[in-house]
Amino acid sequence: MNPPRKLHIKSYGCQMNVYDAQRMVDTLAPEGFVETASVDDADLVILNTCHIREKASEKVYSELGRLRAVKDEAARHGRTMNIAVAGCVAQAEGEEIVRRAPVVDVVVGPQSYHHLPQLLAHAKRDGRALETEFPVEDKFVFLPPPKPEAIRARGISSFVTVQEGCDKFCTFCVVPYTRGAEVSRPVTKIIDDVERLADNGVREITLIGQNVNAYHGEGPDGRTWSLGALLYRLAEIPGIVRLRYSTSHPRDVEDTLIAAHRDVPALMPFVHLPVQSGSDRVLAAMNRKHTVSDYRRVIDRFRAVRQDIAFSSDFIVGFPGETEEDFLATLALVTQIGYAGAYSFKYSPRPGTPAADMREMVSAVEMDERLVRLQELIDSQQSAFNAATIGNTVDVLFERLARNPGQIVGRTAYLQPAHVMSSPDIIGQVLPVRIESLERYSLLGELARAPDARPAQAAFSEITLSEITPSEMTPSEMTTGA
Ligand code: SAM
Ligand code: SF4
Repeated sequence: MNPPRKLHIKSYGCQMNVYDAQRMVDTLAPEGFVETASVDDADLVILNTCHIREKASEKVYSELGRLRAVKDEAARHGRTMNIAVAGCVAQAEGEEIVRRAPVVDVVVGPQSYHHLPQLLAHAKRDGRALETEFPVEDKFVFLPPPKPEAIRARGISSFVTVQEGCDKFCTFCVVPYTRGAEVSRPVTKIIDDVERLADNGVREITLIGQNVNAYHGEGPDGRTWSLGALLYRLAEIPGIVRLRYSTSHPRDVEDTLIAAHRDVPALMPFVHLPVQSGSDRVLAAMNRKHTVSDYRRVIDRFRAVRQDIAFSSDFIVGFPGETEEDFLATLALVTQIGYAGAYSFKYSPRPGTPAADMREMVSAVEMDERLVRLQELIDSQQSAFNAATIGNTVDVLFERLARNPGQIVGRTAYLQPAHVMSSPDIIGQVLPVRIESLERYSLLGELARAPDARPAQAAFSEITLSEITPSEMTPSEMTTGA
């Protein structure tokens, strides 16, 4: 038997990329690849890239520069190291990567990574391989399911893609061009995935998609199911104690989704609902297809069915033509809604998007200054939200060993990390924790009741995905201040 080949994946960007990286590991496992945390002994290095903001693609080119030295060093020792660039930068700049970075063997877009084994064989034969066409077939049909040991090693919380691509065409955004048109996976495939994950110890599922609440997959009854209907069904799967979904668009919040928040206890009362700006003028220029009052009404509909629901959001400052008055409207909206946290970004022109041709640029100094003001406001809301937990007893789903010896870390319903001193037996259980203090973004407390007597889950102490570089943090990373 050949010795295993070593695979190192460095993933940038959003939760979708984290999920895609896991599926690349699953795709390459039957080819004899096993993951390694070190780039130096890797036979294959994959950079799984993000194109949402400018710095992300520049980071890829500088990383490729560093990898050239590692690849040369491997060659000096008689080893072949292959380098692949995957993800949205690969999709948007495939030819440019081939031109600028001869060190790269394979370039593969996000809809084609199920072809990685063939592309590697092609590169071995012809020197290089590039695939950035959108294939006619659905990659999910061809991706092998993860092996039970891979699921168990990844921990008790898992992403599942239910929808990909976007038809909204916000004027600032590359997603419709890099991920393609909106596609929903059939309900039965998603149920199969979640059942397999639950059978191997997964307790929390986050359904993901660029526009997850636009989900409209074919149901087992032949009808089209909405995200809400899907959530009702997934909550019936034994072992699944928490459900989440991300990222939602304010225009696609259907009544069934609201009703699911009322009826499904496993559906967590924390919704990431990006608004981008608090000015109707800017929202129109962004082609967001909703107004500020539409957004407020959506928030009210959620709050009407669950008083304990909390929200996070995304904001862009310095969109072309944004005036001080527009920006003050954003601050006013944040004050009015009151967020548990939010991401805020400086506008970055993306080649090929309509906004990149807009002329009324906001100066870099103004952008910086607005970002600081917005982040101060969001930080103060997040700190107040976290501080309000002190003295309360909250449910925590325990995930893994913490860095501090003897401590176990989990997440509250609002994705706040919570630490207690305990044995690892509690991993995989939801237990009440009395919160005693707050350390930066982490809650510290004590178990308010004894854990269930049942066999311990594997004691996860680290994520197995070779490396994750959040150029854009997922909601679960947001509260860590990472
Ligand atoms: N589909 C989600 C929505 O509609 O809000 C967002 C997906 S996008 C991958 C994540 C976030 O990146 C956006 O919400 C936006 O705030 C930010 N973003 C996207 N394009 C950007 C750009 N050109 N400049 C700055 N931030 C950007
Ligand atoms: Fe991008 Fe989201 Fe707008 Fe789609 S809805 S274009 S993913 S920001």
